[in-house]
Amino acid sequence: MAVNREAYLQIAAELGAKNITLVAVSKTKPVSDILELYELGHRDFGENYVQELTDKAAQLPKDIRWHFIGHLQSNKVKYIAPFVHLVHGVDSYNLLKEINKQALKQQRVIDVLLQVHIAQEETKFGLDEEELNEIMGQWANMPMEALRICGLMGMASFTEDRQKLRTEFRNLKHIFDQLKNKKPNLPLSILSMGMSGDYKIAIEEGSTLVRIGSLLFGARS
Ligand SMILES: *Cc1c(COP(=O)(O)O)cnc(C)c1O
Repeated sequence: MAVNREAYLQIAAELGAKNITLVAVSKTKPVSDILELYELGHRDFGENYVQELTDKAAQLPKDIRWHFIGHLQSNKVKYIAPFVHLVHGVDSYNLLKEINKQALKQQRVIDVLLQVHIAQEETKFGLDEEELNEIMGQWANMPMEALRICGLMGMASFTEDRQKLRTEFRNLKHIFDQLKNKKPNLPLSILSMGMSGDYKIAIEEGSTLVRIGSLLFGARS
């Protein structure tokens, strides 16, 4: 399966004009596909699995910005802590603590996004609003010096219903704005929402970063 260069150039231009970050989601795809976009100038790539990410990172140029977008288990943080650029799906205080601990060991600061549950489906990970407030409260009492909370991430329902997608994204944007108001001292600048099927709606609703896989790399088997 070849990389869809035309789609890439068109999407990159569309997003670039709006100052929106494009994360190319390369899970299950070979390093040759990643290199193809790299050679077109792309640097932000997203992966869901720790083992796959570390394998690929070892084989690819060091100036790639790797986004971890899957569900991260605490016992695996140490494998990506030396190099990960942004961890998108943090949904517990224990995971924050572990990321901070591993970042300290690496003598670096790791940027993270908290994942908020916006879909109606039960299967998607993430915090509800109450849990988000709880974590922010714990955080306020015990800020972690090797960690920066840079924003929120969410996944909408798997549906063709555009109005429903819009409502879910709008809800996340609202939660994001409220959080910014409550925590003016935090560097909250990233709202990660939108994938191949729904990124245009996500952008209309205020996304600052989209995670796109299949439109760029073809369908995953
Ligand atoms: C796989 C994945 C994507 C990309 O999905 P596409 O529909 O292929 O664009 C985006 N975000 C997350 C969290 C994913 O797991």
